[in-house]
Order: sequence, then C-alpha cells, then structure tokens
Amino acid sequence: MDNNIYMDCAATTPISDEVLQSMLPYLKEEYGNPSSIYDLGVDSAAALQRARQQIADVLACDPASIFFTSGGTESDNWAIIGTTELRKEQGRHIITTKLEHHAILHTCEYLEKKGYEVTYLDVDELGMVKMEHLIKALRPDTILVSIMSANNEIGTLEPIQQIGRILRGHSAFFHTDAVQAFGQIPIQPIELGIDLLSASSHKFHGPKGCGFLYMRKDLLLPSFLHGGKQESGRRAGTENVASIVGMGTAAEIAGKELVKNAQYKQKLRDYMIHRLETEIPYVHLNGSRYRRLPGNVNISIPGLDGETLVLMLDSEGICCSSGSACTSGQTEPSHVLRSIGLDDEVARGALRFTLSKNTKKSEVDYTVNKLKEIVQQLRKMHN
Ligand code: PLP
Repeated sequence: MDNNIYMDCAATTPISDEVLQSMLPYLKEEYGNPSSIYDLGVDSAAALQRARQQIADVLACDPASIFFTSGGTESDNWAIIGTTELRKEQGRHIITTKLEHHAILHTCEYLEKKGYEVTYLDVDELGMVKMEHLIKALRPDTILVSIMSANNEIGTLEPIQQIGRILRGHSAFFHTDAVQAFGQIPIQPIELGIDLLSASSHKFHGPKGCGFLYMRKDLLLPSFLHGGKQESGRRAGTENVASIVGMGTAAEIAGKELVKNAQYKQKLRDYMIHRLETEIPYVHLNGSRYRRLPGNVNISIPGLDGETLVLMLDSEGICCSSGSACTSGQTEPSHVLRSIGLDDEVARGALRFTLSKNTKKSEVDYTVNKLKEIVQQLRKMHN
C-alpha cells in the first residue's frame, strides 16, 4: 500500500507521525479513566483539557465551547436534534440546503417524519446558496439554519460570513457542518456568528471515530447521549482519550500550518485543473473555480463512467473517488452533482481528487498522465 498515490483526502486522511506519537502513551501507560480521582485518571482528564484548548485555539473560542463526539455524523445529529429539543416551544421549521452531507439530510428527513418542516434551499450551478433564497425562507418559527462551510464533493465554499450576518437579526440558530473546512480554511465561529459547528478528526490527519461539536457559550444543547457526567454532563460515555489527544495534536498542527498548506494545495490544485482541462478533451470542472477548498479537484469526463475510472486508476496505484454510486446495477449520480444541475451523463463521469499537504507535484503529473491514457483507451473502445 506504500506506493499508493493518495488523492482522496475528503474521504479520510492518514494520521501524521506527530499525531500517532502523541496518542501512544494514552493507549499504554496512561490508561486511566478521566473520571477517576487518582493521579492516573487526573492525567487523562488533563490530556482531554489540553486537546480542548488546542481545538479552541484554532477556533479562537473558549475551550468550554468544545464537546467531544464520535465524529462529524454525531456532531451533526446532535446539533440538529438537540436544537429541536431545546427550542421546541419556538417553532418546528428548519432550513438547510440540497447539497449537505447525508449526516444532515437524513437527520432532517428523520425530523420531517416527526412533524418538523424542512426547507431545502437550492444552490446555483457552482454549488452556492443564494442569500435572497435564505432571507425568503426565514420565518418567525425557523429554529435552525444548517449550511455547510465547504462541500465534500465539489469543494464549494459557502458564504458563511454573509449567512452569519443575516442570522444576527433572527432568532434561528446557525449551525455549520465544517467537517471539510476545519483546519483547511480559517473559520472562527464567534466572529462569523456561528452558533454550532461540527468537525471530524479524520479529515485533518487525526484518528477516525472522533470529532467535536462547538456550541456558542451561552447556548447549551441538551445531552445527546444519556448516562454518566462526562463532557459537563452533556455527552455521556467514557471519553476516547487517545483519539481525542490525537485530534488535539492534529488540530494544533493544522491551525499552525493552515496558511502555508492552503497556499501549497491551492497551487497544486490549480495546476492539476489546468493540466486536466487543457490535455483531456471535454473535461468539465465541477463547482467554483475560485471559491473552492484548496485541495479539491472535481471534474467530469462526459460519456465515461466515474466508477470505472476510479477502478482503473486504482489499478495504477491511484486512490480517488467518483461522484456516483452503483445501486442495484445502475450508476446513480450523487445528490450534490444533481443539485448543481449537472445532467446525468456529465454527473456519471465525475471524478474527485482531494489533495493534501503531502501530495507531490510528481504525483499530480503521474495521475494526470495515467488518466489521459485511460480516457484515450476508453474513448477508443467506445468509438
Ligand atoms: N459532513 C461532511 C461534510 C463530511 O464530508 C463527512 C464525512 O465525509 C461527514 C459530515 C461525516 O463525518 P464522519 O465521517 O466523521 O462521521
């Protein structure tokens, strides 16, 4: 596996050596339960506090606003379901968008079955939410607006600052799924008017199964998991200490290197897009050329099947993903590609490459060259 060219960082990222080293003591000698009152437990509790502070430093917020979870999905569920519980007297209307991750969309669908009303905002052809649509959708009984900071497939950056400004004049909470954005682009919830923010450790070189929910300090959602008194009584269950420590280290590194890494990835991204667009006929860039995550390259090769391309690239040692999934023998384009109005043929030919700070220019060149060969080969077969 060592020879793989890994270009699927939106799916997950490898943990760095520094992250691993910081975790190891908490998997061996520092095994105390953070709730225990003797030294071994107190040491673990202190490690949790350090990680909370490391994350809070990146977000420029109070560490008491950070609650550890099992990842992005739990954070999203907690933010949405918790808001409905906290604000059940104020209303039953939620606003979100059509291009959110399923952790948001399926939670909203679950709530619709329970009698909540959800408005799914359209996005434009670049994947951007329009402010006039948001303003029109807001109602006195809207209790929550949940709009992602950056899309996981096409990398589009949503106008979070503008949304925060609009919502300052409304009682609805503002939640953002920042799973793809945290550690990649600057995001400071207090300044941006964000009340709730979800993130996931394995997207920024931390371990899997670990994440956090930021809650504005004076807004405390009810407990999502019931049991012990962990996480100030809001999230029961013995903490995943080693992973949380790893997430803290990963957050600190991501925060420190953010500007440098973003510049590096952006340059490589634009180079890759340029080569793909100029060297492979009919390549179409999905999403916005400029308002996109630094490491995201999402293209369509009309007439070809994304899943086939992923498998053929895999046989050349390249990991990437497509924008569709094969369900019962039929390749179905993703809801994200549909939301930006791609017709099925273009959407079926989507390929996503997501680069990291470790991606080398030579790997981009190898990948583009291999893809060129594969496309030529497939097009010859089709003609
Ligand atoms: N939200 C977004 C935008 C994501 O990209 C993902 C994962 O890909 C999730 C939520 C879910 O995160 P996790 O895998 O930590 O549950």
